[in-house]
Amino acid sequence: MLTEEELSKLRKAGQVASAARTLGMELVGEGVKLFNVAQEVEGYIRSKGCGLAFPCNISINEIAAHYTPSVNDEKVFEKGDVVKIDCGAEMDGFVGDTAGTVEVGTKRYRSLIEASKRARDTVAEFVGAGTAICDIGRAVEMCMVQDGFKPIKNLCGHQIKPYNLHAGVSIPNYNDGNTNRLVAGMVVAIEPFATDGEGTVSNGPPGNIVRILREKKLGDPKAQEFFEYAKGEFKSFPFCARSCDFPEAEKHVKNLIRHGVLSSYALLVESKKGMVSQHEHTFYIAGGRAEVTTLP
Ligand code: MN
Ligand code: MN
Repeated sequence: MLTEEELSKLRKAGQVASAARTLGMELVGEGVKLFNVAQEVEGYIRSKGCGLAFPCNISINEIAAHYTPSVNDEKVFEKGDVVKIDCGAEMDGFVGDTAGTVEVGTKRYRSLIEASKRARDTVAEFVGAGTAICDIGRAVEMCMVQDGFKPIKNLCGHQIKPYNLHAGVSIPNYNDGNTNRLVAGMVVAIEPFATDGEGTVSNGPPGNIVRILREKKLGDPKAQEFFEYAKGEFKSFPFCARSCDFPEAEKHVKNLIRHGVLSSYALLVESKKGMVSQHEHTFYIAGGRAEVTTLP
């Protein structure tokens, strides 16, 4: 179990991430730059004394995850876009990871958006210590099928440990037969993705989000300085050039990818280009009933 002090950090990160998600979803609108929304969301998280657990993901339509705007990104939201805002705050390594979906100016995909929300909120009603992991997936899939959609089977929720966003247990979005049970003291993110497509994602082109793969002595002192900055600022969490307060961060990121020090995450695209919605909360498995740390 977490100590009171650890729990207060987890709760703070959760509250900040939740407010950042709400802010991001409110800012989305026709003609608005994705760049501005990402900067506002991350600026809010930092202004509350938290670090970024990962860059603000703004994934549109058939892109399920891992899009974040680049340094000079001019892309704007268009009418009819289905927009997933997924953001994370961290306080001394304790993370709040949360996501929601909004549609820009239309209501064509309201039932798709409701399906992932209902799946997440259904799970929140029963999840706790002793819950079999496959029962979470079963509930998610049942909600989606009832609503006429499919879960994305190769995307899943995850356990979160201090400074480790994807640690240990995976939480499936279908019944994967995993009869292991959640244990008191765990932190998990549960994130159903609903689609009207195939129900899987495939790797698209590389996106702007990177992680540190390994440490390596770099010949160029400026590159070494950038690496030390990124490690100090983002620790072991994913990051992107846009979130760096460092001159020519984009150039350094590209260079470190070439040297095999950083690795970029591919965009995750629905395999049949179906529309995708996502809802996510972080849960502290306190006892028989979990505490949701990222509620509004
Ligand atoms: Mn997330
Ligand atoms: Mn997550």
